[in-house]
Amino acid sequence: MKAFRNRVRRQLDPGRPVHHPHNTTDGLSLGPRDGLSVDWHCHSTWSDGRATVAEAVRRAAARGVTLGIADHGLRDNRRLGTPSQLASYVDDLRRYPVLRGMEISVGDVPGDVAGAETDVRLAELDYLIASLHIIQVPEGPVHATRYLNYRAGLYPRYRPTLARYNRRGYFDSWLRAFEATVRHRPVKILGHFCLLPELANDEGIVDLSRDPEPDAVAAEWLDATIELCCRYDVAIELNSKSRVPHESFVVRALEKGARFSLGSDAHQLHRVADLSYGRYLVSRLNIPRHRLLSVANIRPAAEESAAG
Ligand SMILES: [Zn+2]
Ligand SMILES: [Zn+2]
Repeated sequence: MKAFRNRVRRQLDPGRPVHHPHNTTDGLSLGPRDGLSVDWHCHSTWSDGRATVAEAVRRAAARGVTLGIADHGLRDNRRLGTPSQLASYVDDLRRYPVLRGMEISVGDVPGDVAGAETDVRLAELDYLIASLHIIQVPEGPVHATRYLNYRAGLYPRYRPTLARYNRRGYFDSWLRAFEATVRHRPVKILGHFCLLPELANDEGIVDLSRDPEPDAVAAEWLDATIELCCRYDVAIELNSKSRVPHESFVVRALEKGARFSLGSDAHQLHRVADLSYGRYLVSRLNIPRHRLLSVANIRPAAEESAAG
């Protein structure tokens, strides 16, 4: 149990030393540009991933997948928050044939300190993923990561963070935080979004045996989230690690015109380029290819041949 807790803590608290292996990816290029073959969400030793960037690149290439490195940054990573740290990260990723991304939390909006300089550095990345991690409600913080990690097999069971909290307060806090984040940051992807099971109905009943079925109030909130994604051109990630969003949400987002991206959310080498959940949904729901975020959406063709 202790080992298990440490493993979870490592995943949530990027605090281990960074290693910078020399470039050992010679001869590899960026890879396919089709959205079905791009893993936009992979962690490395720049945050809490176990694999180095070079190792992850080689694994993705062996699987015929183009890799996007998206390590935890800004408030979620004390080693990847300042403008100079961001500059080192960008410089390092430029050495590899990867898409240069970063994962931040929804709600991590610019502060006054070093805001402009941070923005300059973030603009050098190809994209940001803004993810559902912790949402502050009047009753306290709701750690959505608990449910996501439960679904990823990292927790043996799931218990909501707070015994009871007002779900309308959560919905409002989420929408405010999400809109502020996509308005102020160059966000291209909404990471591992889901409806927490206790929010699906007003009674707060958690049923883990099936996907949460939203009642009218929850469905309205889900629609509002999809509409923000459409308005700000943010792709909805199909996340293999936690197998979210739930299928009914993806169906609805497809109807409403949203785009999608695939991501492994790999923290270990063997998970790199695992796009199984996204590919399953693309095939099952007949999601057209042009609705998947592709390399061309992020990088002009002229840059394709450039190193990384
Ligand atoms: Zn995350
Ligand atoms: Zn992640």
